[in-house]
Amino acid sequence: MMNTTEVGAAPKAPPVKVEERLFQNRYLVDAGRPHIKIKPHAEPSKALMALTHLCPAGCYSLNDKGQVEAVVDGCVECGTCRVLTAKTGEVEWNYPRGGFGVLFKFG
Ligand code: SF4
Repeated sequence: MMNTTEVGAAPKAPPVKVEERLFQNRYLVDAGRPHIKIKPHAEPSKALMALTHLCPAGCYSLNDKGQVEAVVDGCVECGTCRVLTAKTGEVEWNYPRGGFGVLFKFG
């Protein structure tokens, strides 16, 4: 009789959406002191516009004046916006103060 079970293969877990994983995290918001700020702009650069699609936590959005805004309460501190706007300098990026920001939940 043939054994069809792969030796050492991990069982496959069902796919989980990013949104569902992010929902597991907890955040302590430093009210009135956002750790990421967008510099005032009339028109956003392509890099800044791209963040409305690329930020995994959905922190960036376009307002009705065509400017990009950020609400960073759910930021996972991945640094994507920092890297993407390094040349344009449109984003002022800092880590949250100690004790604030994201608390990752694993498992
Ligand atoms: S660090 Fe990552 S999660 Fe936080 S605002 Fe920038 S792109 Fe979004």
